[in-house]
Amino acid sequence: MNKTYYLIFLLFFAASYSSPGIADPVHVYEDFVGCFKNKTNISDKDLTDVVLSHTSVSYTPVLRAYIRNARFNTSSTPKPSVIVLPRVDSQVQAAVVCTKTLNLQLKIRSGGHDYDGLSYVAAVTFIVLDLSNFRNITVDMNEDGGSAWVQTGATLGELFYRIWEKSDVHAFPAGICPTVGVGGHVSGGGYGHMIRKFGLTVDYVVDATIVDAKGRVLDRKAMGEDLFWAIRGGGAGSFGVVLAFKVKLVEVPKTVTVFRVDRSSDQNALDMVHKWQFVAPRTDPGLFIRVLLASPTKNKTQTVNAKVRALYLGKANDVVSMMAKEFPELGLKIEDCKEMTWIQSLLWWMNHKDVEKVKTGCFTRKGTGLG
Ligand SMILES: Cc1cc2nc3c(=O)[nH]c(=O)nc-3n(C[C@H](O)[C@H](O)[C@H](O)COP(=O)(O)OP(=O)(O)OC[C@H]3O[C@@H](n4cnc5c(N)ncnc54)[C@H](O)[C@@H]3O)c2cc1C
Repeated sequence: MNKTYYLIFLLFFAASYSSPGIADPVHVYEDFVGCFKNKTNISDKDLTDVVLSHTSVSYTPVLRAYIRNARFNTSSTPKPSVIVLPRVDSQVQAAVVCTKTLNLQLKIRSGGHDYDGLSYVAAVTFIVLDLSNFRNITVDMNEDGGSAWVQTGATLGELFYRIWEKSDVHAFPAGICPTVGVGGHVSGGGYGHMIRKFGLTVDYVVDATIVDAKGRVLDRKAMGEDLFWAIRGGGAGSFGVVLAFKVKLVEVPKTVTVFRVDRSSDQNALDMVHKWQFVAPRTDPGLFIRVLLASPTKNKTQTVNAKVRALYLGKANDVVSMMAKEFPELGLKIEDCKEMTWIQSLLWWMNHKDVEKVKTGCFTRKGTGLG
């Protein structure tokens, strides 16, 4: 590199880190590692897998693996000075204490589905705590109608799958997108296609473990009811790092029914959508009817297409006769319906090609082909 280029490089490098609030990542990494080693006694060999500097070969693949919004996957998107990939609770505790000591911001990431990239982008110097190694799920069918401890780095799909392995008549009422992370979803409230029957996801959280701002590991009893209330809907990142939630399972029938009905303006879509507004919130709580509207232009005239997608926690004949009475504008026929198990219905919602083949891969990031 000749002298002029070297000077330009130095000026550019200095300018990059002279903006207010952004520190040089090399120094941040060194300071952070010093503190982290002190708190955890981690070996140098393990350290390279757990604390990643921006020069580590794993840094970019790990960062990108859970960026779910392409708007935040650009060269100008602010990047963390350090990524921490904890494997045990004490490493989460050290990450919290060290970021606080060094006056840095900690971004906690579970499934990375935050719409604004809040789990991996910040305008100040920050560290990402990536919980993708925290994905153990223990399902216990003997306790109180079924329960599960799920670590927050697991996805909803992994939780659904582990429940199904133990029982095909138990489920968990949460969002239907399987790649959404348990950490952000549950702590933000959570709703899905069984909301009418069972309510919000947080209504089924019975215990949790959290690392608070002082670096203490607390369960429900130790954290107290106020904090336990706050992390169930208040966005847990404001209060600490949730390590795991304990959730109650719900019972679902062995056979459920799904159906699709598509109507255009010529096929009475407007009357159907109008009536849907009155039927969908009041019908049998086991029936969830979603409508997606599109407005294509046909022969220079704007039209309306309505796509109905529904889940009924029961048999096809029953939902067809119920709709004939309550919602004739839908024109539901038995041929529109498919009976299947609850776990298969999740694959159907995801437009999976073969709902018969329920396997782990269908519920992970790669298997779904979803963001
Ligand atoms: C494709 C898609 C489908 C969706 N479908 C639904 C749906 O059906 N129903 C529904 O209710 N919502 C749905 N959502 C919204 C989703 O539930 C929220 O965006 C949720 O916060 C994502 O959680 P996450 O762990 O994947 O995201 P992250 O980006 O990892 O985290 C989201 C927020 O939670 C914080 N956080 C994450 N883990 C922890 C933790 N362990 N402790 C403390 N704080 C933590 C993060 O710091 C961040 O602020 C969907 C979102 C997308 C993108």
